[in-house]
Amino acid sequence: MGSESSVIKEIPFGRPMISEAETDAVMQAMSSPQLVHGPRIHEFENAFAAMLGPDAYATSVSSCTAGLHLSYLHLGVGQGDEVIVPAQTHVATAHAVEVTGARPVFVDCDESGNIDVTRIADHVTDRTKAICVVHYPGLPVVMDVVSAIASHKGLAVVEDCALAIGASLDNVSCGLLGDLGSFSFYPVKHMTTGEGGMVVSRDPDKIASIASLKAFGYDRSAAARSIPGIYDIARLGINYRMSEMAAAIGVVQLGRIDGFALQREANSRALRDGLAGVEGVRLLPDGDARRQHANYCLVAVLDPGLVQHRNSIVLRMKEMGVGTSVYYPIPLPLSAYYKDRYSPDPDAFSNAQRISEGSIALPIGPHLSREDMLIVVESLSISVKEVT
Ligand SMILES: *Cc1c(COP(=O)(O)O)cnc(C)c1O
Repeated sequence: MGSESSVIKEIPFGRPMISEAETDAVMQAMSSPQLVHGPRIHEFENAFAAMLGPDAYATSVSSCTAGLHLSYLHLGVGQGDEVIVPAQTHVATAHAVEVTGARPVFVDCDESGNIDVTRIADHVTDRTKAICVVHYPGLPVVMDVVSAIASHKGLAVVEDCALAIGASLDNVSCGLLGDLGSFSFYPVKHMTTGEGGMVVSRDPDKIASIASLKAFGYDRSAAARSIPGIYDIARLGINYRMSEMAAAIGVVQLGRIDGFALQREANSRALRDGLAGVEGVRLLPDGDARRQHANYCLVAVLDPGLVQHRNSIVLRMKEMGVGTSVYYPIPLPLSAYYKDRYSPDPDAFSNAQRISEGSIALPIGPHLSREDMLIVVESLSISVKEVT
C-alpha cells in the first residue's frame, strides 16, 4: 500500500527555466572584476535589441516597473500631469505614473482584455502627457487609434511590455510601436534575470537619456571621465541598474527564448483545442493576421452564471495539482489605494470587472508539455461541471 495512488502530477502556473548554462554564467560573472558596468550588460542589451529588430536600442534596468518609472522621468511627467493607463493591468502600470506625482487616468478594456482604444480620446485633457498601453496577456494592442491620437495631441506612447516578449503588430515588435517600451524579467515571465527589465526604443537618444537616469544622472562625458574618481552630475537620476550576474543569466535565456516561445505556442494551441467544447467558458482571443500573440498565459472567462463559482473552481483545480492565477484580481481604479485616492465611478470599468471576477489564467509556460495541457483541460472541465 504505497502512497503512489494519491500522488498527482503538479502543474505549477509558472516556473523559471534555469539550467546549468545559466548557473555557470552567473559563476563566471561573479569571479570577474566587474560586477556592474561590465561586458555582459552590453552583450545582453545588444542581443535584446537585435531580437526586437534592426532599428532597436535597449538599456537594461532593475525591473519593468523601474523601466516605466524612468520612461516617465525622461518624458518629464510629474505633478499636474495625466497619463492614460488601462484599468485591466498589473498595479505597476499605474504606480509608475503615480510615483512621479502625475495622475493615472484609467480606461476600461474591451472584450479582448486590452485597453478599449475607442474610449481613449474621451479621457484626453490638456493635462495629458502620455498614453500607456499594455499588451495583455501577450496580445498586441492594435495601435492605429492610439498612434493617431498621440500624434494629433502631441502625446508620448509608453508600452508596458511585461507580458509581450515575442509579440508583434504588423511584424513590428512590441516595444517599438510607441516611444518607449519596458520589458520584465521577473522569474515567471517569458524569460528571467531573477529581477530585471529592459527599456527599448527606436530612438537612440531616448535610450541614452534613460541610461543616464538609471545611473544617478552622472555626466559621463570624456572630460568628466578623464581623472579617476572625478565626475560631474548633469541631472537628477536614480539607481535602477542591472548587475553583471543578472545580465549573464539574461544572455543565456535570450539564446533559449525561441524554444520557449514555440513551447508556449504549442501549449496554447493544445489548450484552445481542448477547451473548445467546454461549456460555460470563453477564451480571450488568439493572435490574427496582424497580431503575433506572446502567449504569456491563456485567460479563460467564465459565463456570467458561473462567475460566483470562480474561486471554488480555482481551488478545485489546485486540489487536482493544477496551478492557475488571476490576471488581474481587481480593476486597478477599484483597488483600495486608487479608490481611496480618486473615487472613481465603479460602473466605468465593467469589462475589466468581468475579467477580474470571472477569469482564470491557465498555465502554458515552457515548463509544461502537451500532455500537461490535457490535464489542465480535464481539471477545468471537471471543476466547471461540478458547479453546474
Ligand atoms: C509583471 C508586470 C509588471 C511588473 O514587472 P516587474 O519586472 O516585476 O517590475 C508590470 N506590468 C505588467 C503588465 C506585468 O505583468
